[in-house]
Amino acid sequence: MAHIKISKDRCKGCMLCIEACPRKIIKKSGKINARGVMYVEVKKGSACTGCAMCAIMCPESCIEVYR
Ligand code: SF4
Ligand code: SF4
Repeated sequence: MAHIKISKDRCKGCMLCIEACPRKIIKKSGKINARGVMYVEVKKGSACTGCAMCAIMCPESCIEVYR
C-alpha cells in the first residue's frame, strides 16, 4: 500500500504539502521539531495514493513516497 515518510526534523513547517495533497491526509502535528517549528504528519488510517504531489511540493525534500 502506498504511503509516505516525513523527515520531521527537516520539516520547516511551511504547510505546502498540506495544500498539495489531493486526499488532504497531511496535517499539522501540534508538536515542535529540532528546528523549533511545528512539523507535519500523516493522519492516522488515511489512504495515500502515492501520487507524490506532497513530495514534489516540499522545498526541503523531506517527504519520501513508497508505492
Ligand atoms: S503521495 Fe499524494 S496522496 Fe499521498 S500524502 Fe502525498 S500528496 Fe497525499
Ligand atoms: S512541505 Fe515539507 S517542509 Fe513544508 S510542511 Fe510539508 S514536509 Fe514540512
